[in-house]
Amino acid sequence: MHILLVEDDRSVAASAIDGLTALGHSVDHVVSGTAALEAAKLMSSLDVILLDLGLPDMDGQEVCRRIRSTSETPIIVVSARDDEADRVIALELGADDYLVKPYGMRELSARIRAVVRRSQPTPAAAPASAVQEIGRLTIDRRSQRVHIDGEEIALTAKEFDVLAYLAEDPGAVRRRTEILEHVWEGHWYGATKTVDAHVAAIRKKLGDSGWIEAVRGVGFRLGFPE
Ligand code: CA
Repeated sequence: MHILLVEDDRSVAASAIDGLTALGHSVDHVVSGTAALEAAKLMSSLDVILLDLGLPDMDGQEVCRRIRSTSETPIIVVSARDDEADRVIALELGADDYLVKPYGMRELSARIRAVVRRSQPTPAAAPASAVQEIGRLTIDRRSQRVHIDGEEIALTAKEFDVLAYLAEDPGAVRRRTEILEHVWEGHWYGATKTVDAHVAAIRKKLGDSGWIEAVRGVGFRLGFPE
């Protein structure tokens, strides 16, 4: 895999490069946020970006937000900061995972494989009937596209995953923690307000809050607006 490593600490970078190269990955290394933005723009073949938060020229969170505004390349935030607020912010800015330093090379490698796998749904794994119709709403799991009355609704990858998960069983209530575990694979334990933020964004894009009903104190379910 082709990995962009954004890390200003030379010794941390050197051991990451050694480990990742030994596992057969090709690694490009930059030491600043500016260089990271430039590289993310120029390198179309990137499979994943490993992003340190403490960078000399700009905050890694800002780097994350800017990369995500132009690219779907998976981003794993790698940081010594280990509090929930940092994790939530990174997630809301579009990071796919968050790894706390110091980390083991095996864990890093597993996380890389997981985010890359999630970002590249294999056609073979998709169910035969990938297109689901729920009233005016159409969800195509193979192409990850959503339409209402034939008009495409532009959802982010995570918004699509939340909607598709609720649509697996229309009308059934999913708890916030279930949604987090399913869509974020449990890496974001405790950050349930993230689910609410995504639900709010989906409702707005679908143009009717009735598509996702809140069940007070429990969670959410797919609804059937008129
Ligand atoms: Ca740093």
